[in-house]
This record gives sequence, C-alpha cells and structure tokens, in this order.
Amino acid sequence: MAKGEGYRVVLLASPRGYCAGVERAVEVVRAALRLFGAPVYVRKQIVHNAHVVATLAREGAIFVESEEEVPEGNVVVFSAHGVSPAVHARARARRLRVIDATCPLVMKVHAEARRFASRGYTLFLIGHAGHEEVEGTMGEAPERIKLVQSAEEALEVEAEDPKRVAYLTQTTLSQDDAEEIIAVLRRRFPSLVGPPTEDICYATQNRQDAVRLVASRSQLVLVVGSTNSSNSNRLVEVARRAGARAELVEDASAVNPAWLEGVDVVGLTSGASAPEYLVQGVLELLARAGFNRVEEIRVAEEQVSFELPAALKERALGGIAEGPAARLATGAERGVAPSEPAPAAPG
Ligand code: SF4
Repeated sequence: MAKGEGYRVVLLASPRGYCAGVERAVEVVRAALRLFGAPVYVRKQIVHNAHVVATLAREGAIFVESEEEVPEGNVVVFSAHGVSPAVHARARARRLRVIDATCPLVMKVHAEARRFASRGYTLFLIGHAGHEEVEGTMGEAPERIKLVQSAEEALEVEAEDPKRVAYLTQTTLSQDDAEEIIAVLRRRFPSLVGPPTEDICYATQNRQDAVRLVASRSQLVLVVGSTNSSNSNRLVEVARRAGARAELVEDASAVNPAWLEGVDVVGLTSGASAPEYLVQGVLELLARAGFNRVEEIRVAEEQVSFELPAALKERALGGIAEGPAARLATGAERGVAPSEPAPAAPG
C-alpha cells in the first residue's frame, strides 16, 4: 500500500521484540521468585526495558547496581548482558546464591575472549563503552582486550604483536557499523582473525533486516524500546539509514501526534527487550489516528529458545521432591495471567 491511495497503513516488522535471551532472563527472575520466594536480588536491569523492570519489581525483585549491595547469603540473579569474572568472585566472597541469566550467546563471546587471550592474542572488542555487555566481556581478559568504538578508533588502535590480533563484537551492534570497523582493522592488520561464527546475534540481525525493509517503504518508523537499550537504538539508526524518519518510543504515550501529520505509512518495530504488549499499545494508538490497515513484513522465522540455568533446574527438581508448590514451570505451563500481559514467543 502506498502513499496517496487513501489508506493510512502500518508496516509491522517481523521478527521484532523479545529474543530468546530476554525471554529466558525474564523467566529466570520469575522462576527464582517462585522457587526461593521474594525478595530476589537482580544485579542491574535484568534486560534494558523500564516496563519489564517495573513489573518484576512489583513481583518481588529488588534491582541493585552492584553485587556488594546484596545482603550476604541471599539469592542474586545476574542480568542477560553478562558479568566479568571479578563480579562472580565478589559474589562468592559474599556467599551469594548466584543464578546467572547471561544470554548463552553472550557467554559464547566470553568464551571466545578467553580462548584468544589464552593464546596470546590482542583482542579488539568492537562495541560501546559503558554498556554492561562490553564491561563483562572486557573483564574476561582486561590486559589483552582493547575497546574499539568507531572506524576512527580502528585507525588508531595498536597491538603488541600486529600478527597476533583478533576481533570480537558486542552482540547488539549495527551490522553496517561493525563491518566498516572490521574493514579498517583488516587493512591495518592483515593477519586479523575473527570469531568462528558471527558475534552479532541472530535476533539483532533479524530485527535490523526487518526494519531496513520496513523503513524503505515507510515515511516514519517507530521503534518501541528503552533509551538504554542498545539494540533498540541500533534499529532507529538502521531505519534512518534506509531513508525513513525514525523515533524511539518507550510506549504509546511517547508517540508525539505531530509526527503523524502528513504521514500515510508508518513502520513499527520493537527492540529485543520490549514486550509485545507495548507494540500492541502503539498499534491501538495508530488505529485511533486512522491507521487501520496493518501489514506484516516478515524477513525470518525464529525458533530459538534457551534452557533455564542449571541452578534453577536443580532447585526445581528438589522442589518436586518436597512438594508440587515448588515446581518449576514455564510461563505457558503456569496458565495464570502474569502481572504483565504475556509476552510474545521469541521473535
Ligand atoms: Fe542474547 Fe541476542 Fe537477545 Fe542479546 S539480543 S539477549 S545476545 S539473543
């Protein structure tokens, strides 16, 4: 449907929203609350979404900035973005019961960092300073990893042995930015090696591919996500590069009606940490503004899911022996309305 045919259309990107790592991390907190009882401490935002954090806080989670704020001996969940070995060591020293909700795809990057560092490589980590995932990965080998945030920095960065260099990337980067930076590093360091498989994860890639296509046919693209969500910010950038105006919105209340003036085709997507009910809220707002046709633009099917951490499964098995009340169930098995509307399946 195109501008000028008398319709106001929403092009809904797919995949969008929750990835398998976020789905699992949110479920980890809920399972910990069921198995251990409130309060359960969570180090940092479990995923970068203000609505999810507020909902879990209402259910009994206490969010803290540091493991050192958790009273000794208590249960603490580490967020989906991963932590450095130093954080694990401090948690051990405080005798905390750790449940690690680090996404398995972030763990893969940590393992690559350890492997390259143990073989004496200088590692260029392509990512954004201050992001928790970057802090966690750098903590695996702080003496060997150099953060590279841009093509300009790639022109300047040095290596102890230019023949023994490797790169890794944050999982939520823009594919275009990463390729540009890797190309500069390759020109400067012809021996550069990379990870065996791409670090930018399947969910990041699929959401960027979908929004690129949607943006090429839209005048305005709305990305539902929080301002501290790396992958949501990258979706805004990808949409802009594809030629559309693009705005990041926390939820429907953040949509400025003035943005919709003179617009007939709006693209809509959401970051990997944004629950689907927030997208539905924006769709309702757009419907009230006359955008009554919704067309889904799907670029990939996602079937990825991750198991819960072993620490929870073991506790759950113990719980079955003690009685059914402690049984570990998935959200679907619970069959009760969660205090937030049920998230969509991954993707
Ligand atoms: Fe894991 Fe990718 Fe989701 Fe991050 S965006 S939690 S790496 S699946």
